[in-house]
Amino acid sequence: MPGDSTQININSGGTAKNTFDAIVIGSGISGGWAAKELCEKGLKTLVLERGKNVVHLKDYPTATKDPWDFTHRLRMPLKVEKENPIVSRCYALSEATEHFFVKDKQHPYVQEKPFDWIRGYQVGGKSLLWARATQRWSKYDFEGPGRDGFAVEWPITYDELAPWYSHVEKFAGISGNMDGLDTMPDGEFLPPWELNTVEKELQQKINSNYKDRNVIIGRCAHLTKPNQIHLDQGRQQCQGRTMCDRGCPFGGYFSSNASTLPWAEKTGNLTLRPDSVVHSIIYDEKKQKATGVRVIDAHTKVATEYFAKVIFVNAACLNSNLVLLNSTSSRFPNGLGNDNGLLGKYVAFHNYRGTLTADVDGHLDQYYYGRKPTGAMMPNFRNVHKQEMDFLRGYMVHYSAGRRTGDGSNKEDIGGAYKDAMSEPGGWGVFMMMQGETIPKESNHLRLSKDEKDEWGIPLLVTSVAYDDNDEKLLKDFLEQGQEMLTKAGCKNIRTNDSKQAPGLDIHEMGGVRMGKDPATSLLDKNNAMHHCKNVFVTDGASMVSTSTQNPSLTFMALTARAANYAVDELKKGNL
Ligand SMILES: Cc1cc2nc3c(=O)[nH]c(=O)nc-3n(C[C@H](O)[C@H](O)[C@H](O)COP(=O)(O)OP(=O)(O)OC[C@H]3O[C@@H](n4cnc5c(N)ncnc54)[C@H](O)[C@@H]3O)c2cc1C
Repeated sequence: MPGDSTQININSGGTAKNTFDAIVIGSGISGGWAAKELCEKGLKTLVLERGKNVVHLKDYPTATKDPWDFTHRLRMPLKVEKENPIVSRCYALSEATEHFFVKDKQHPYVQEKPFDWIRGYQVGGKSLLWARATQRWSKYDFEGPGRDGFAVEWPITYDELAPWYSHVEKFAGISGNMDGLDTMPDGEFLPPWELNTVEKELQQKINSNYKDRNVIIGRCAHLTKPNQIHLDQGRQQCQGRTMCDRGCPFGGYFSSNASTLPWAEKTGNLTLRPDSVVHSIIYDEKKQKATGVRVIDAHTKVATEYFAKVIFVNAACLNSNLVLLNSTSSRFPNGLGNDNGLLGKYVAFHNYRGTLTADVDGHLDQYYYGRKPTGAMMPNFRNVHKQEMDFLRGYMVHYSAGRRTGDGSNKEDIGGAYKDAMSEPGGWGVFMMMQGETIPKESNHLRLSKDEKDEWGIPLLVTSVAYDDNDEKLLKDFLEQGQEMLTKAGCKNIRTNDSKQAPGLDIHEMGGVRMGKDPATSLLDKNNAMHHCKNVFVTDGASMVSTSTQNPSLTFMALTARAANYAVDELKKGNL
C-alpha cells in the first residue's frame, strides 16, 4: 500500500506528553495563521515543521550584507546552477537567499510532465521568500467556476470571506490605495506606495484608452505606516530596501517568522517543533476521526506520534496533497477522506509565460527615491461579466518602469570610461507580465510513486500537470493586448516573450484537495474541513477550487483564519 502509513516503527514518548489540542502541519504563510488563531483562542497547539528553525532577526545571515560581501556578487556559481536546474530557474535564488530554498537533489520528486516545484523548507516556509503581492479575490473569481461550468462551484462567496480578508489584512499590514474596483476589492489598507513618473504616464494613457482597464498601484504586505498592532508584533516601517527575501530585520514585510509565529508564541500555547517531517495522519476507525500524526525526525529518522483533537494541514499545496495521499488506513486505502478518488486531482497554477519589455523616450530629468517593493497592477478585464473571448477566464497584468544602469556612452564593457558611464542612469524601460488563471482539470494531478521513497520512507510525489489550449489562447491574447497597450502608451521597441516555463515556476500551485458543496465531487466542506474526516482542516492552496487571476496567499490567510475560528467554535460545542 503506498506510504504504508500503519507500518512504521514508533518510538513514542507517551501519549499524554505528546497530546495537544491542535496540531498544525507546516509553519509557512498558512500554518503561521493557523497557529496564531488557535493559540490566541486558548488551544495548546503543536506546529510541526519539517525544516530547520529560522528565528526572526537571529537567522537572517545575509540581511544586511552588501553585494560586494558575496563571493560572486550575488550570482549563483555555474556549478550550483548546473546541479540544481529546477530551483535555479526561480528569479529569487541568489547567494543572498539560497539558504532558504530547497536544492533539487535534497528532496527529489517525479516529473511525469515538466513541473518546477520551488520550495522553502524551514520555519516560515516560503513566507520568507515571497514577493508579497496581496490582492483580495473578487466576487467574479469565486463565481467563475459555477458561471462558466468548470471545476465545481465554490461553496463560499466573496461576501462570506470579506470579513476574514479584513481580519488578516489588519494584522499582516497590507499597503494599497482605495480604488473602488469590483474586480479587485479594496481592503484595510496602510498608505499606498507611489508609482514613478513613467509608471504614472502609462497608467494615465492605458486608463484613458480603455474603458474596461484600470491600472492601480500594487497592493503588498509591507508596513508603509505601521499601526499599533504591527508595533506590538515588534515590527517597524518598511525601509524600501527590497532585500526582503533575505528576511527583514525591520519586520517591514509580512512573514510568519516576524508576525504570526512570535504572536502565537506570546500566548504561551505554542509548541514549535522544527525538523519534524510529517509522514501521515492517524485515523481512528472507531472514533471516525483523526487522532494525530506520525512524524519522522528529519535527522535521526526516529518516528513519533503526536495526538490532538484538531489537525490543520498547511504543508503548502503539493506537500499537503502528499501527506493526505500517504495517510492510508483500512477505512481510507487511497488517502485520507478520499472516497471519491479525487484527492490529488484538479491541480492548477498561474500562467506566467508572457512578458513584454519596451523603451520609453524622455523623462531623463526624472528619477525616483528608494526601491519600492511593488509596481503597477491591472485587474483582469477579460470575461469578467460574461464569457466573451474564445478562452475561459483571463489574466491580471503587472508592470513596472525604471531607469537602466549606464548612459550608453561606453564603447567597451571594461575600463574607466565604462565605469564612468555605469555611474549615470540610462534611459527608461518597461517590464510587463501576465498572471493568467488556469482551468483545473482532472488530468492535472498528483499521485504517490509506487516504487520510490525519500530518505524518510515517504513515497515520492509524482507531478502530472501541464498547460492546455486555453492557456495558449490566453497567452496569445495577453501578448497582443500588452503590445497594443504599450503602443498606445507611446512605448518604443516593444518586445514580446513566451518563456515557455513549466508549470510550477509561478509558485502559485493550487488544488488537489478542493472545497465544494458536494462530497461526491470535492474533499473539503465550506469551512475547509474534510467531508469525511471532520476534524482535519486543509487551508492552504490545496483547498482551492480555482485559481483566480489574483495572487493567492492573502486568500490562503483569510481561509485559514476563518477555518481556525470555526474549528475552535466546533470544539467548544463538542462537535469535534
Ligand atoms: C519567490 C516567490 C515569490 C512569491 N510571490 C508571491 C506573491 O507575490 N504573492 C503571493 O500571494 N504568493 C507569492 N508566492 C507564493 C507564496 O509564498 C505561497 O503561496 C505561500 O507561502 C503558501 O503558504 P503555505 O503556508 O501554503 O506554504 P509555505 O509558506 O511554503 O509553508 C509550508 C511549510 O510546510 C512545511 N512542510 C512541508 N511538508 C511538510 C511535512 N511533511 N511535515 C512538516 N512540515 C512540512 C514546509 O517546510 C514549509 O515550511 C511566492 C513564492 C515564492 C517562492
